[in-house]
Amino acid sequence: MRYLSTRGDSTPRKFCDILLEGLAPDGGLYLPERYPQVDAATLARWRELPYHALAFEILSLYIDDIPAADLKALCARTYTEEVFGTPDIVPLRELEDGVYLEALSNGPTLAFKDMAMQLLGNLFEYELARRGEELNILGATSGDTGSAAEYAMRGKQGVRVFMTSPEGRMSPFQQAQMFSLQDANIHNIAIAGVFDDCQDIVKAVSNDLEFKRKYRIGTVNSINWARLLAQVVYYFAGYFQAAASNDRPVSFTVPSGNFGNVCAGHVARMMGLPIHTLVVATNENDVLDEFFRTGVYRVRAAADTHETSSPSMDISKASNFERFVFDLLGRDAGRLRGLFEGELGRTGRFDLSADPAFAEAAARFGFSSSRSTHADRLATIRDTDKRFATLIDTHTADGLKAAREHLVPGVPMVVLETALPIKFAETIVEALGHEPDRPARFVGIEALPKRVVRLPADAQAVKTYIAQHCD
Ligand SMILES: *Cc1c(COP(=O)(O)O)cnc(C)c1O
Repeated sequence: MRYLSTRGDSTPRKFCDILLEGLAPDGGLYLPERYPQVDAATLARWRELPYHALAFEILSLYIDDIPAADLKALCARTYTEEVFGTPDIVPLRELEDGVYLEALSNGPTLAFKDMAMQLLGNLFEYELARRGEELNILGATSGDTGSAAEYAMRGKQGVRVFMTSPEGRMSPFQQAQMFSLQDANIHNIAIAGVFDDCQDIVKAVSNDLEFKRKYRIGTVNSINWARLLAQVVYYFAGYFQAAASNDRPVSFTVPSGNFGNVCAGHVARMMGLPIHTLVVATNENDVLDEFFRTGVYRVRAAADTHETSSPSMDISKASNFERFVFDLLGRDAGRLRGLFEGELGRTGRFDLSADPAFAEAAARFGFSSSRSTHADRLATIRDTDKRFATLIDTHTADGLKAAREHLVPGVPMVVLETALPIKFAETIVEALGHEPDRPARFVGIEALPKRVVRLPADAQAVKTYIAQHCD
C-alpha cells in the first residue's frame, strides 16, 4: 500500500515512511492510494475475532512494511483487558430500543484517544528501534490529547515527550493525571499563559528547522494517519455487536472536533462496512454542522470559538476535514488545493453548496449532522441518568442528542462514548448535583506527588529546556 498527499504530492511512500510525520511536505494530509474492499466472506470471518486480531487484520491491509508476525504482536500487546478494562475492549450497551453506546473510554486516560494513542506508542517504539533513531515529541494540550500521549509513550524506548499546558487552566483531575507520571521520559511543562501561547511555542520551535532536525522534534497530533487507522477498527467492532448479521446497515453518531474520529468511520464505510449514516455531532462550535447543512465551510476566528462544557470539541477549524473533502471531490488534488490553499487562505471559507459533489456528502457518503448547546448537554445527562441509570459525559451527551435526531426505524444507532464523566465532573455536578463515580485507580490522584516544571511563555525557554533534557 502506498500513501499520497491530498494536495497532490505523489512521491511513493509506505506506512512507516509517514508514521512519524505530520503534514505532507506540500502541506496536505496523507491518505492511502485506495481503500481496500472487504467482501462478505471477510466480514463473516472478522465477526468471530477478538479485538486485537481484528485490529491486525484491518491494519495489515494498510501496512505492508512491518512483518506480519511483528504487527500481530504489536496489536496483541496493545489491545488487552489489562489496558482497556474489559475483554471486549469496546463493549456495546443498549440504552433504549435500537440506540447503543459503544464504550471507547476505558483506557488509561478515560477518553477515546487512548484507542489510537496506545497503538501509536508501540508502533513508534518499534519503528525507532528498527531505525536506531530517537524522537522527542513536543506538544501543546489543554487536556485529553496530552494525557493520552503521555500514557501511551511513558517508559517507551527512544521516545521523550515534552508536553506544554497552560498553567492552572486544566481541571485538577486532568493536571493530576498528567503531572503524577514519574517516568523519566515524560516532561510536563506548565507555561505561564493560555493554550494559544502553548500552541504558538510548539509552532515556533517546529519552524526552527535547524533545532527541529538537531533535536529530532516530532508531534502526535490528530492528523497522523496511524492514529486515524487505529480508529477504523472500533467501527467494525461496534458494527459486529450492533448488527445481527453482516447484511444489515448500522448508523454511528460521533462527537466531533477535528474530524479525526468520524473520518475513521468514513474510511470504514469506504472499505464496504455497511454503515447507513455517519452523524457528525458538534457543540456550539458548529463549523462542521454548518458545512453538512449548507455546503459552506467557514473557519472561525479565535474570538468566535466558544469555550464550552464539551471542551474537546471546541475547534475553530477541523484539521482532518481535508481528507473527506478530497474524497468528496473525487480525489481531485488540484481542486482541493484551490479550496484549502486558495479560497480558505484568502477568505477563511469556501462554498460547495452549488456543487453537485455537496449533495453526495449525504447521498453517497452517508454524512449528516447536528449541533447541541450547554442546555442540551445538561438535559441529556439528566435524562440518561434518570431513565437508564447511566452516567454519560458532556461529549457523549452531544452525541446522544444528535443521534436521536437521525434515527431510522430498523437501523441500529451506535453513539460513540468518547470520555468518561469523571473527566468533566463540574458539568455533571451542575446537571445532577453530585460528583460522578471515579474508577478505583484514580481515587486520590490529586494528592500524588507532581512532576512538572514551570516556564514563561517563551519559545527560547522551552528550547533550552529540551536541549538540557535530551541526551
Ligand atoms: C478529541 C475528542 C473529541 C473530538 O474528536 P475528533 O477526532 O477531534 O473529532 C470528542 N470527544 C472527546 C472526549 C475528545 O477527547
